[in-house]
Formats: sequence, C-alpha cells, structure tokens
Amino acid sequence: MSTNLENDIKQEVERRRTFAIISHPDAGKTTLTEKLLLFGGAIRLAGTVKARKASKHATSDWMEIEKQRGISVTSSVMQFDYLGHRVNILDTPGHQDFSEDTYRTLTAADSAVMLIDVAKGVEAQTIKLFQVCRKRGIPIFTFINKLDREGRSPFELMEELEQVLGIRSVPMNWPIGMGRELCGVYDRMNNQVELFQGNDHSKIEVRKVEDYNDPIIREMAGDFLHDQLTGELELLDVAGDQFDYEKVSRGELTPIFFGSAVNNFGVQTFLENFLKLAPSPTPRQSTERLVEPTEEKFSGYVFKIQANMNPAHRDRIAFLRICSGRFERGMSVKHVRAGKDIKLSQPQQFLAQDRDIVESAYPGDIIGLFDPGIFRIGDTLSQAGELTFDELPTFSPEIFAKVTVKNALKHKQYQKGIDQLTEEGTIQVFHSTSGFDEIILGVVGQLQFEVFEYRMKGEYGVDIQLHRMTYQFARWLVDDKIDPSKFRINSVLVKDKKDNYVALFENEYAMRTAIEKNPTTKFLEMAP
Ligand code: GDP
Repeated sequence: MSTNLENDIKQEVERRRTFAIISHPDAGKTTLTEKLLLFGGAIRLAGTVKARKASKHATSDWMEIEKQRGISVTSSVMQFDYLGHRVNILDTPGHQDFSEDTYRTLTAADSAVMLIDVAKGVEAQTIKLFQVCRKRGIPIFTFINKLDREGRSPFELMEELEQVLGIRSVPMNWPIGMGRELCGVYDRMNNQVELFQGNDHSKIEVRKVEDYNDPIIREMAGDFLHDQLTGELELLDVAGDQFDYEKVSRGELTPIFFGSAVNNFGVQTFLENFLKLAPSPTPRQSTERLVEPTEEKFSGYVFKIQANMNPAHRDRIAFLRICSGRFERGMSVKHVRAGKDIKLSQPQQFLAQDRDIVESAYPGDIIGLFDPGIFRIGDTLSQAGELTFDELPTFSPEIFAKVTVKNALKHKQYQKGIDQLTEEGTIQVFHSTSGFDEIILGVVGQLQFEVFEYRMKGEYGVDIQLHRMTYQFARWLVDDKIDPSKFRINSVLVKDKKDNYVALFENEYAMRTAIEKNPTTKFLEMAP
C-alpha cells in the first residue's frame, strides 16, 4: 500500500522538469529564459534576469566581477509553474570564459535545451556543453533562434548538427519563410500553423489546419512560401528521421524547434511541447545503488558552491540537487562525507537575485544551503543511507598558470588560501617535479583564475601573481615506471595533490606523440 508521503512525492516528481539551456554567448539565452519565465507568470523575475547582465548595483563580490566584465558569473536557478508543471531552469554562465561550474551545473539537469543562432549555427561553446550532455545521455532539445533574421537554411543546420555534433534531428516545426519574409511556423506534430501578423510581427495567431496542404496556409502565406513549405515538408516526410521517443530520451535524436525569442515567436509552443516530451527527474546512480526519485527517504548532492553572494554576511551557498524524497525545512540529514547529522534549517531558493526561504522541495528541485564551510562539491546529504552520488566528474583543465605570492611574508596565508580554494573543486593544483616546488593551477575557464585572484585577496589578504603557461592539455599517467625525461618537448611532468603524475602538453601533436612513444602508459583525462 502506498503512503501519503509516497503519493505526494510521486505526484511532485512527475510534474517536475529540470533543465539547463546550453548555448554560445549571444545566441539569445537570456532573452529566451526571460520569455519562458513570463509564460509562468513570473513577471517579477523576467526583469531581474536581464538586469543581472547590466547590474548597476553590485550586491556581492562576485557581482562586482560580473559588473566589471559585463557578464554573468553566477549560475542560479529559476522556478516557475506552467500548465501544472513545476519547471526549474538552471542558469549557466553565458560568457565564453565559462568554467567548470557550467559543466557541473549540467549534472543537475535532467534535460537540456540547446539554443542556436540561425545565422551562426553550431558554435564553439555549444559544442563543449553538448558533449557534456551527450556523455550523460540526457535528452537534448534544440531551439533555433532569430528566425526573424536572414539565416542558414533549416536543412543546412540539420546537416551541421549531424556533422559537427554527431546527432540526428527531427524538426517539430518548420519555418514558413525567414528573415523579413518570415510569416510563421508549421507545427508538424499538432498540425497547426503559428502566424506572425503585422509588419512588426507583433501579433501571433495560431490556426488549426488539416495538414500542410491546407488552403488556409496558402491564403495567409502566399503561393510562393506555401509552395516552398510543402516542397520542404514532403522531402522531410520521405527522407527525414521519424520522431522516436526512445531515441530522444537517450539523447540520440534531438527534436528541433524554430522560433524567435525576442519576438516571443514559437516560444510558447516550444515550451508546451518540451514539457510534454522532457523527462521528469530520473533515477540517479550512487555508489551503493540506483536511487529512485520517488523513494520516501531524502537524498541529494552538492553540485556547486558559491562564495559571498551577500557581502553583509561573508557566507557561502551550497547548491544541492534533490535526488529523492521530500525536503522539509529543519529536517536532519546525514552529511555522508563528514559522517555526521546536520539540520537543514536555513535553505534558500534563488529566484534570480531574490532569496526566498523554502519550506519544502522535491526531487528535481535545487535548494541553496547556507554553508558555514562544511560542504564540498560532490557532498551527499542523505536520509537514505550512506550513499554518494557519482554525478560529478572532474573535467580536464585546459588553462594553466604558475602562481607566486607577491609578499613572501604572507606565505602562510597564501598556502591556506590555495588549500581551501582548491578544495572547492573548481581549480586543480599541481606541483612541479623539477626540484623547486612551484605551484601550478589548472582550470577549465580563464574566469576561474580571475575569481581565484580576487578571492585570494578578498578572503586571505594575499596578492598573488599568475603567470599564464602555454599548456593546453593535461593527462594523468598510469604506469609502474614513468620516465620524466620523456616529457620535455612541448610538455612538462607535474604531480597532483595525491602525487599522481600528470603530463601537461602544449598542443595536441605533442600529446599524440607522447601517447605513441609510451605504449605501456595510460593517459587519462581525469585523475584515476
Ligand atoms: P545570451 O548572451 O545568449 O544571453 O543572449 P541575449 O539573450 O542577451 O541576446 C543577445 C542578442 O540577441 C540581444 O541583442 C537580443 O536582443 C538578441 N536576440 C535574442 N533573440 C533574438 C531574436 O529572436 N531575433 C533577433 N533578431 N535578435 C534576438
């Protein structure tokens, strides 16, 4: 017999959709997020999403960096209700100097929306983020944006998805014209047309039709565009992939939607179809077992820690993704790594910059926990036994710098800062093997260095200098016997915190050569 709690959790899990938008800067992520929030009636938030970009009043050290650079460093969570669903959007930093945080945030999502500029196609950052989602095997939905501009042909973009990302696609709707000619989209699943009205495309009308040959479309779009539409759709019907729910679920096929975020065009139908097709919170793998979201016992893991969101209290916030059970304010949970029980009395949820206190939350939700310094990335909180979630891979650093302290008298503080900040998990620390103990830091995005430098000064009072190195790849070496002399050309051998050997390479060629020359050595992208 199922209990009330079980039923409550089951219902709440089923209606939840937790996703992240992945895109290259400028594709329109802020705009799309804002429109999505508007549909949820969360108008108060819609303004704040945008405001964050050009924040006039810095409200934290982090925001100070954001302000200086005009970018968004923090990733927060936005929640809204729509058509009975509870939607969580995980915001990911949108600058090209994105960091490991972005990758980690993706582990907390159950699906992703890949946003692409119709004129630019698949861009560098999209590729990286896509690959992380791909590895996790989560469903990826594609929104091709800026249809009101002249862009590439839809067929060309589908071809590019396949060539560059290796994913096949199935268009859920299809543009009728493009750029100035854009007059609407044809919804292939629901047999309806969504039409732009007026010169400024300000009015949107949705009409139910028989199929794409319906004379209504001809009447509204004109002969030329209708002929083009029927020609293209006939081709798709014959040669395109069929919609296949299983393939979409496994992330092997991406449903494509065309639209224009800034004109709010195609956004509503996208959202409605997305909510139907996207998964609710899925079971999560832990060291012990697969944890079902509908289990009564609470569990979750910390995927991100953010320092100093509020300068008045030098606090840190640990972001926790709930994996199972029901969270209630004030509940006691086991902090598995620390091996002790803690009380979750002050959890906060982040609606853009506003902080709300959360009373209860369910799998798929993200809660921000006030952190007096007890959490690390990857920590599991659980009432469901001593388990640890495997969700947090570390990512191979791509940018390296030697670090020195300007004032030698501050050496103790410097060491403490390095130890504590690298503990958070977004910066990796290496030691040289050359005799001098030089400290080398490795990160995924340049921004992490800036944040590191800023925090060393702000929190530890230490001025440091970072000397950027030319290495681009790190590989952990596994071998009984390692010959350091083999890693001298365009490369260097260092050690990580646990004394593992790591080779840093200046370019792919140097790395390949080393791999060929050391057939008995394993080269791993991450620490073993
Ligand atoms: P982000 O960097 O991905 O968050 O991108 P933004 O949402 O800030 O958008 C970048 C620029 O593209 C802004 O100037 C937007 O107004 C513009 N933009 C967003 N959506 C559209 C669209 O559908 N059509 C056009 N023409 N511009 C758009």
